[in-house]
Amino acid sequence: MAAETETLPIAIIGGGPAGMALALALAGHGSRGQIFEARARGAVREDPRILALSHGSRQILEWLGVWRRIAATPIAAIHVSQKGGFGRTRLTALEQGLPALGYVATAASVGAALDDALAVADIPYHDLARVERVVTGTESSQLFTASDERSAQLVIYAEGMMAADAGTVVRDYGQSAVICTVNTATPHGNVAYERFTTQGPLALLPSKEEMAVVYTCPAELAGALANLDDADFLARLQAHFGTRLKFTAASKRRMFPLQLRYRRSPVGQRSVWLGNAAQTLHPVAGQGFNLALRDVWELARNLPNAEDPGDARHLTRYAAARSQDRNATIGFTDALIQLFGNDLPLFREARGLGLLALDLLPPLRAFVARRMIYGARAW
Ligand SMILES: Cc1cc2nc3c(=O)[nH]c(=O)nc-3n(C[C@H](O)[C@H](O)[C@H](O)COP(=O)(O)OP(=O)(O)OC[C@H]3O[C@@H](n4cnc5c(N)ncnc54)[C@H](O)[C@@H]3O)c2cc1C
Repeated sequence: MAAETETLPIAIIGGGPAGMALALALAGHGSRGQIFEARARGAVREDPRILALSHGSRQILEWLGVWRRIAATPIAAIHVSQKGGFGRTRLTALEQGLPALGYVATAASVGAALDDALAVADIPYHDLARVERVVTGTESSQLFTASDERSAQLVIYAEGMMAADAGTVVRDYGQSAVICTVNTATPHGNVAYERFTTQGPLALLPSKEEMAVVYTCPAELAGALANLDDADFLARLQAHFGTRLKFTAASKRRMFPLQLRYRRSPVGQRSVWLGNAAQTLHPVAGQGFNLALRDVWELARNLPNAEDPGDARHLTRYAAARSQDRNATIGFTDALIQLFGNDLPLFREARGLGLLALDLLPPLRAFVARRMIYGARAW
């Protein structure tokens, strides 16, 4: 990073999907942000995580001009069930009058599309520039890397993690996600499966010709599960999932520890926390990046070429506008884990009744589908 004395309007720490999407959205509203990324540029193109993108996210990515470049598999239906209990339901795009309930893409594909668009728009991206310290001031903040110092009116923290300090709420679910892709004996037909088990939820998402697996399990079992040889892993997955699909091959497994972490407020003095740095959610409902994109959309709208983007009035307005959707999405995801991760018979009955009600009542299905598609502000 070259030494410069000019105060930047907006510095974005972290060039992951959230930071890059924000830089593009700001440019769309006539503001300029500069990205400071610890890793080499392009590392995001290797990100193996799978993202379930909602229809609302598609609309935001279209507005950012990157949707056409993302290799996305449409989800025509979602099948929801619980292992060892009655009740199941199926949400379909047809019933909701949408081209798809959502889409599945790798974080690598989303990252590559965003990175290409940043290059075309000539948005500054400083790679190998880990920000080691930020000193927050009243007029501006100072950012320090190993070799340099910059000042900015507003600092966006999009670094994908958050320190456990007084402003952070942490709930450790004691679970990890083992992720991989599997091949199936018959085509997946663009159906996604969400199966709740007492070990944690199991999600299978259609991704090109394969299914992407997010297999949640107790943290202490994750290592053993991930390290099973392919045949044993497939047998375990098959037993866990049931017989609706037959699995024939699996890719290398990776593990992610799962916690709910969120900052009580996503804004502070000359600071905004975005994406996983603002809230890290359990991936059960695939809400993390979708929520981040809705935050990106609102934040960029609130800072149109502002003279001082770090002015508290802009930040307070942004936080107020996002509060309902943010709290509801965090609460919805957390409630799913509490409700479906509990093996008491009463809970099993309640889950079954809930799924049955969902199956029998189209308005309730529409409600759940719209929440997954647009977030809490859809009504
Ligand atoms: C198993 C799993 C499945 C998921 N599935 C879904 C899903 O289906 N749908 C969904 O919407 N979300 C999903 N998520 C969540 C989704 O992956 C995240 O919401 C999203 O990737 C967060 O992006 P981000 O840019 O905030 O963070 P990251 O992708 O972590 O990027 C942060 C960037 O900041 C950089 N950085 C860190 N520290 C510094 C520093 N000090 N200085 C400079 N740079 C720094 C890092 O190198 C990195 O490039 C899933 C997550 C997991 C773990």
